[in-house]
Amino acid sequence: MTVNLLKRLGLNKYNVDKNSHIQVNTDICLTCKDKPCTKVCPAGTYEPSPDGRIIVHYERCLECGAALVACPYGAIKFTFPEGGISYKYG
Ligand code: SF4
Repeated sequence: MTVNLLKRLGLNKYNVDKNSHIQVNTDICLTCKDKPCTKVCPAGTYEPSPDGRIIVHYERCLECGAALVACPYGAIKFTFPEGGISYKYG
């Protein structure tokens, strides 16, 4: 299946909506040592900040859902406004 080019490029389509498609409870991130969300995202959407929280670059998101699977604390709430990138795991 061909992946939509706009989606692959991560063009800034989410800032038009005042409610982002990614919500992170950054208080939980304070206790998360390895911050796996920052390692699994292929687009660099999640960035650790010096205070231990997470900065989310929403406009980079490709909707793969990897961070949802990787987060051990369920700190991320996520919707797939574009329907995801249609990868199938496993
Ligand atoms: S993996 Fe979850 S709890 Fe850990 S830093 Fe990322 S969003 Fe926060």
